[in-house]
Amino acid sequence: MRYNRSVGKSLKAILICLLVPACAGAQDYAGKFYTAGPSTGTFFALTYDDGPGATTPALLDLLASSGAKATFFISGRPSGKNLSALQRACAEGHLAANHTLSHKNYFKLAVDPDKDKILAAELEPTGKAIEKACGYRPRIMRMPNGYSRDWVRKVARAEGYALVNWTYGSDWTKLSDEEMTAGYLKALKPGAILLFHDGGGKVRQRTLRLTRAVLAEAAKRGLEPVTLDRLLNIGDIGDTIPISSGK
Ligand SMILES: [Zn+2]
Repeated sequence: MRYNRSVGKSLKAILICLLVPACAGAQDYAGKFYTAGPSTGTFFALTYDDGPGATTPALLDLLASSGAKATFFISGRPSGKNLSALQRACAEGHLAANHTLSHKNYFKLAVDPDKDKILAAELEPTGKAIEKACGYRPRIMRMPNGYSRDWVRKVARAEGYALVNWTYGSDWTKLSDEEMTAGYLKALKPGAILLFHDGGGKVRQRTLRLTRAVLAEAAKRGLEPVTLDRLLNIGDIGDTIPISSGK
């Protein structure tokens, strides 16, 4: 059923593209770089990096309690509890995106003549792991440390990824809890892409506290947390890419 729906959607997209040349842009996200979505409307995005980790199940509970949808930038090749958390995130309507296999330091790697091959090789296994767990190839990636240069965009384009950084994030800094919360709430606007972290060995209470504060404020202001594909209008990823036949 899913496959038929995809085919129907694809045919519709092709027909519309024949009639409306500008629609080509909607498919043309590979290699594009985003730090925010449209500032009109009511959508914004919650994004979580470096997971799944010990925080992810509690975070999924929290998101479920408010109906919020988020994007998870997956690092590594999740297994065990982390794989279960990834499968659960996808089953509950969140989006999985690629944050590379081993979170290398690209500021240092920038001088390596094989850097583009290294990056492609870092994207591939995590992309495959997401495909296996969630049933679609991820179409969005975020570089470790938000590193962005022209060569990265070229690799992203070749590998079929949009690059997405963030509008605001501070949960890894030395700011006080109050300053951090104030920073996130100030940045909470239509189109904002907020960055948090859910990876690491222990539950990141700070991530949960900040998410709770943002969700409460968003509800007050009528803002809706949506997945990045929806915020950036780069296609309904889960529906338009048929599940691979296991190749
Ligand atoms: Zn990271």
